[in-house]
Amino acid sequence: MKTILGLLYGGKSAEHEVSLSTARAVIKALDFNRYEVHPIFITLDGEWRVGNVLTAPVETIEELQFAGESKPNDISAFLTSGVKFDVVMPLLHGTNGEDGTVQGFLEVLNIPYVGNGVLASSAGMDKVVMKQLFEIAGLPQVPYINFLRVDWAANKQAIIEKCETALTWPMFVKPANLGSSVGISKASTKEELEQAIDYALQFDRKIVVEQGIVAREIETGVLGYNDPAVSVAGEIIPVTDFYDYDSKYKDGNTALEIPAKIETAVYDELKEMAIKAFKILDCSGLVRADFFVTASNEIYINEVNTMPGFTPVSMFPLLWQETGVSYKELIDRLIALAIERHEEKQ
Ligand code: ATP
Ligand code: MG
Ligand code: MG
Ligand code: MG
Repeated sequence: MKTILGLLYGGKSAEHEVSLSTARAVIKALDFNRYEVHPIFITLDGEWRVGNVLTAPVETIEELQFAGESKPNDISAFLTSGVKFDVVMPLLHGTNGEDGTVQGFLEVLNIPYVGNGVLASSAGMDKVVMKQLFEIAGLPQVPYINFLRVDWAANKQAIIEKCETALTWPMFVKPANLGSSVGISKASTKEELEQAIDYALQFDRKIVVEQGIVAREIETGVLGYNDPAVSVAGEIIPVTDFYDYDSKYKDGNTALEIPAKIETAVYDELKEMAIKAFKILDCSGLVRADFFVTASNEIYINEVNTMPGFTPVSMFPLLWQETGVSYKELIDRLIALAIERHEEKQ
């Protein structure tokens, strides 16, 4: 009997396009003898479209969007599609995808789903909550401060002074709830800091200002549930000032070095830290843990991403490929983990 698999992609997020390329790659890798594949497309406006069963890989993005045809149109199409999904794979990033909302929706419907649950997704989406949990786990992080839009509106000067007292230049200003470097800027002067905060406030009401660090960016992938495993490490070799949105998705010339050239002792420490991060957020399925490693091998955790980039050329799948788990196998494992978690809960 085939596993009835719903693939959820698109979404109302800045990372809509990324999600489409992920969906196309995942569909291509799926064994159609093993899975009955149902595409579920969320438009940029947030409309849900449940398409017909796929019997072969799709070649074009238009096909993924069911252009001009298909069963319509909103969330009720999903609820009344009559399909009883064995498992849903949310291939969504950012808001309404990676932040626990879709996870909660699937939870209420009692449908097993791939990847992190509600708590890990929402805690991982909010950089402040994530940092506070990392602190409890004893994970080293760069110094930071955080505040709300109302605090900034009430007293800019006090916040700038607080940054100058607590942190050294340059500083990184980030909206708390985003990914793909959207809304992030580097500030080297008071003026730049003020501008960077105003800019970040366009994306979120909660802001993080971090002390900038000169370090290599090293990442590992964690895969599993109760007994998670860590992949080899990979390094991002930057070509721009920092790993911003364009270098992630547009320039396409940021090099990934896998495995990263690091000492065994450093890798062992990264591995332990990645597991600690996975556990403190109560993750399941997958996580990409991102670190800063200085020239003197001091390690700081930057963040975890609960739905990391998942195209065949993204860091997470490449890390696992190098560890001995192919893209195809990775998908099968994630689906199996989703079912395992669901059964444990029953
Ligand atoms: P994604 O989810 O796509 O990985 P993000 O939006 O969550 O990204 P971060 O990973 O926090 O953002 O930051 C984006 C990039 O900015 C980092 O990969 C790094 O290049 C740079 N950066 C962020 N914080 C710092 C810091 N404190 N010091 C130096 N560089 C930093
Ligand atoms: Mg992130
Ligand atoms: Mg992200
Ligand atoms: Mg990051």
